[in-house]
Amino acid sequence: ANAQRKRRIAVLGSKSVGKSSLTMRFTQNTFSEMYVPTIEDTLSKEVTFRGQRYVLEITDTAGQESGSPASSAQTLNVDGWVLVFSTANRKSFEYLRTVRNCLLESTGHRTLPMVLVGNKVDLAANDRTVGSDEVTRLAQEWQCPAVLTSAKTNQNVQEVFDKCLYEVEKLNGNIKQE
Ligand code: GDP
Repeated sequence: ANAQRKRRIAVLGSKSVGKSSLTMRFTQNTFSEMYVPTIEDTLSKEVTFRGQRYVLEITDTAGQESGSPASSAQTLNVDGWVLVFSTANRKSFEYLRTVRNCLLESTGHRTLPMVLVGNKVDLAANDRTVGSDEVTRLAQEWQCPAVLTSAKTNQNVQEVFDKCLYEVEKLNGNIKQE
């Protein structure tokens, strides 16, 4: 059998959009209504993807709005990026442009293996300040997948990390064309 591969994923975005909640939901299948600001934490989970075993090391970063959106420590050795906003918070959506620009600058790459994530879709429709059409448009511009999630109801959480790993392995040349 093939040896297990290790991939590092960083979760970025404004504070309180649900970065920790998505990470907790994915790695431990738990959710808390409580808000505990994260310093920085790394959780891992083993997954099998396309018949290959992986361990994903997921770094749940502190909110980026104080100081640089992506410190060099956050960009070091990271394979894939999950950029999260809250669908109930327009500022958090717009802020991701800044985050992505900083990542491009600090990595020196023209594109990034990343997934755009709109979290908290379980909230009532009148709390929705970012429409799914806008999300689709931004993802097209960035040529990355977009996923609308709820860490609370566990909607599409697995998809986020599946898609991120797909993007990473595509770049690594590990995805054979179907
Ligand atoms: P972070 O600062 O980005 O890591 O955000 P947290 O994961 O700490 O979440 C901030 C707050 O939003 C907490 O009170 C969570 O319970 C709540 N939250 C996170 N994800 C969701 C979600 O999908 N739906 C709802 N309704 N609340 C959420």
